Amino acid sequence: MDKTDPVFSIVAPVHNEEGNLHRLYERIVAVMDALGEPWELLLINDGSRDGSLDEMLQLHKRDSRVRIISFARNFGHQTAVTAGMDFSGGKAVILIDADLQDPPELIQQMVEKWREGFHVVYAVRAERKGESRFKLWTARLFYRLTNRITNIDIPLDTGDFRLMDRRVVNAVMRMREHNRFIRGMTSWVGFRQTGVEYVRQPREIGETKYNLSKMLRLALDGITGFSYFPLQVAIYISFILAVLAVLALPVIVVLRLATEEVVLEGQATTLSVLLILSAFQFLFFFILGQYIARIYDEVRARPLYVIADTYGVPFDTENVPPRVVAVPEDLAAPSTFSSVQEEMDDQSQC
Ligand code: UDP
Ligand code: MG
Repeated sequence: MDKTDPVFSIVAPVHNEEGNLHRLYERIVAVMDALGEPWELLLINDGSRDGSLDEMLQLHKRDSRVRIISFARNFGHQTAVTAGMDFSGGKAVILIDADLQDPPELIQQMVEKWREGFHVVYAVRAERKGESRFKLWTARLFYRLTNRITNIDIPLDTGDFRLMDRRVVNAVMRMREHNRFIRGMTSWVGFRQTGVEYVRQPREIGETKYNLSKMLRLALDGITGFSYFPLQVAIYISFILAVLAVLALPVIVVLRLATEEVVLEGQATTLSVLLILSAFQFLFFFILGQYIARIYDEVRARPLYVIADTYGVPFDTENVPPRVVAVPEDLAAPSTFSSVQEEMDDQSQC
């Protein structure tokens, strides 16, 4: 560790953001220096294919408070944020997107709330500029839906832009699940939480990496990670079908016996019923599949991410977080691949 341990760690996941990094750095320096406490900026290079890593290295050379974790490939936004939290040293950790959609200036307000004694200060999007109607609508729907069906309170219209006290970070770091939904996990741990409002700006440089399928995946991670409701829907449908069967079957039998003519004629009826029921059945296969795939991920217990290089990140081999493969620069002698992977003790016991 540096002589001056940081009080604040700012964690920014980076995937192809070469045009944004310098501006991000400048704005963060302005805000953080004004706070008058030591800080670090942890940039996680999540498999960028553009010049992002070079930009980061330039910043790191210029200012040793900029520290870099470079993944061996793209592991996804939520995992990149996790790595940042894993290796952060601050008493408070701030997660922020690298594309400047989250204004660094808001950190000041977050810090004020933290100093008042709040453990999580999340940024609430009062307004979102420059997003497509579709994204706004799906985001709205998603937040309302998850809140209804999950057993934790995920604040409406929040992203991952938030400040977390060290205690919260340590608690979230103990949750090593693969399919991660950070904003849900920070709610799940509890503590004193509050929000500050901001207007979300449009992205100026580069483009969003969250396409529809990634958004859907994140939504499914959020829902399956914190709710059994989708699994329980099957029981309601089975009740409805059972009631229908009890009512309909005697009617059909009576009609069949009492009249000469064929009741509920033909294939059309049978086919319709068959199609409706199969559709429900396949839907529930899908739902089951979602949970089973996630169980499979946990059973395989693969590492959450693989670190290829670190720059300026204090590395303590004794303390590599569970489920992480790391090849720290200081430790890896040329051509030796030192991998550190620990299983989480308490997870393997239960
Ligand atoms: N990001 C990442 N890995 C990914 C996708 C995105 O680290 O696989 C980063 C990205 O560089 C940005 C943040 O996560 O800093 C949010 O991504 P993006 O702006 O694409 O999401 P949106 O704001 O559109 O929801
Ligand atoms: Mg963005």
